[in-house]
Amino acid sequence: MSSLLVTSCKKDEEENENPPSTTVDFGTPPSAGIVTTGTVEVITEDNVRYHVIVAVNVCTVTIVETETDVVMIDLGPAFIQNFGTQIKAYADDIGKPISVIITHAHGDHFGNIDKFESSVVYAETSVVSELAANTTFAGLYTGEVTAVESSLTIGGLVFSFDKVSNAETNENAYIYLAAEKALFAEDLIYNQAHNYIREYTPLTAPDELTNWLNGLNELKTQFGGYSHVFVGHNGTRSDISTVIDENIAYLSDAQGLIKGTKQLTAGGFASTNQQVVDELASLYPDYVISALNLSLPDAFYPGDPGADWFAPVEFGDPPPASTITTGTVEVITEDNVRYHVINAVNACTVTIVESATDVVMIDLGPAFIANFGTQIKAYADAIGKPISVIITHAHGDHFGNIDKFASLDVYAETSVVAELAANTTFTGLYTGEVTAVESSLTLGGLVFSFDKVSNAETNENAYIYLAAEKALFA
Ligand SMILES: [Zn+2]
Ligand SMILES: [Zn+2]
Repeated sequence: MSSLLVTSCKKDEEENENPPSTTVDFGTPPSAGIVTTGTVEVITEDNVRYHVIVAVNVCTVTIVETETDVVMIDLGPAFIQNFGTQIKAYADDIGKPISVIITHAHGDHFGNIDKFESSVVYAETSVVSELAANTTFAGLYTGEVTAVESSLTIGGLVFSFDKVSNAETNENAYIYLAAEKALFAEDLIYNQAHNYIREYTPLTAPDELTNWLNGLNELKTQFGGYSHVFVGHNGTRSDISTVIDENIAYLSDAQGLIKGTKQLTAGGFASTNQQVVDELASLYPDYVISALNLSLPDAFYPGDPGADWFAPVEFGDPPPASTITTGTVEVITEDNVRYHVINAVNACTVTIVESATDVVMIDLGPAFIANFGTQIKAYADAIGKPISVIITHAHGDHFGNIDKFASLDVYAETSVVAELAANTTFTGLYTGEVTAVESSLTLGGLVFSFDKVSNAETNENAYIYLAAEKALFA
């Protein structure tokens, strides 16, 4: 290889031995006041200007402005009134031709596509298929989405495309400007916001969170030294390795809680979506929470089962109802809990709450029905799990058989404990300690919440509820 090197000896040119960097004059950005439904941050560099628009719910649209073009990375959700028309007005105000890139087939990323009918819309090849199969997208946009296999050059910038499959959704594309050291990770990286893990199905392969974590480790290797990462929720960060580590920690915690390798702070393991959601909320108290609640039952529509994280508990056959000759038994089986409702001949009711691992008796009925106490004890024993007792209030028809449960853990709401201690019938039957519960008690993975009404049916009437199961013990 030969080359001709022409040098100049002029001293004043030595300072310019690198090609002169052309600094684009971007002028004044549009007024941030155009977007009243969010905030705008403008980051100006030599060849590119970024306009990061964070909607009121932290959904983020990033506008990449080159010398000649505007590229929208995602378009935010439709449900924030005026957001779509405002981001369109903002982009129009820049005064350059607008292209759109959609990173993945979630409505909060393409919800305003109907405002951009006149733009060319791009997506990574596999995301094009996902969008084509999405009826919400098809209802909003009848134009064609142009598939990008690996890169796209717009306005002199090379947008490189890649993806992680089976992670936050079926296909999450990410895009990068290698020359500008800018990564558009969108929903593969969240910024101080709970990751959307609704689509995680740990009971069937592949394991989406393992895929997501592997993808994050690859992103960290490839882009850890970049200058900017733009995300789908909550803006942008310049400390890319740190924000990736935050996401790895979060998703590892979530995966451990769901798969039963990480204990709850209160002890035991989660068996319901509500327990996982509550634990993540308390582990990451400062994170924006909206995506987390979308994993709960009823999140998207009434009767929505929520994320498919836990297999229904196998309860097996209940004890024979004939164990109770002094009353009737009704058994109600749900995914995570089974209720055995025992109605004594005088209509006093004892409810047995059975979880995957435990039996909790809510009240114990009266002493005066011969054999009722020994029969409910025999029935509870036949379930074959450790038994705890909750007494709701200091009336004898609710604690009359406490002597049959003398060796077990007995709980009551704090003020009810005081009532029971002052009740000579109770103290005559039971010399053990009653454990006071202030607000909640977790037994067998179920969270029993306690509250009370004072000076009503008696001095202190506790009521208990399982929020995750929508069950009230009044
Ligand atoms: Zn998403
Ligand atoms: Zn999103």
